[in-house]
Amino acid sequence: MGKLSEDFGACEKGYNQSPVDIQQVVKSELPPLSLTYQAKDKSIINNGHTLQLNVHDGDKLLVDDTEFTLLQFHFHTPSENQINGRAYPLELHFVHSDDKGNLAVVGVMFEKGKANPAIADILNMVPATINVAEAVAKPVSLAELMPGDKHYFRFSGSLTTPPCTEGVRWLVMKQPVTLSAGQIDAFKKVLGDNNSRPVQPLNGRVIVD
Ligand SMILES: [Zn+2]
Repeated sequence: MGKLSEDFGACEKGYNQSPVDIQQVVKSELPPLSLTYQAKDKSIINNGHTLQLNVHDGDKLLVDDTEFTLLQFHFHTPSENQINGRAYPLELHFVHSDDKGNLAVVGVMFEKGKANPAIADILNMVPATINVAEAVAKPVSLAELMPGDKHYFRFSGSLTTPPCTEGVRWLVMKQPVTLSAGQIDAFKKVLGDNNSRPVQPLNGRVIVD
């Protein structure tokens, strides 16, 4: 991937790349995630790499006493990050930016279990045409896409697609959310069998929780 273009050099040469396998964690008693997500103005697009919902609600996430605004969320199958060497069938990335353009991504793991009503809504509105955004008519409940327990692992990483820009604050929720086996299959049909980047070396980075 790093050979595609000089601009994508970080993908090959970076030392703080994502995703990672979360194994050794340094206890630091991070407070639970502080976020206020609404379910209002969104559009949905299948860009050929992932299914993405663009958000225009001004949803806020507080990290390091800085306000980050939710820009979009999208899906990977299987999960990109791993926990103790385990990949989950699906991972959701909530992508936020502060007013200086710094990024914070909240990752949510999904495991097979009870059907997820919000996932059902999203699967029902997959656009028929690649790269054509459609307005989301029905509100999607982001609460159903977030675990009840708001504790997380935190580390520094990158975008997982070119240009693989580093300096991204990564927060991966510890508690997975469920979706049904049928919903996992439906996602694989939309995203293809694998739209995930392999795990990258930590190179001395520390993961805290
Ligand atoms: Zn992603």
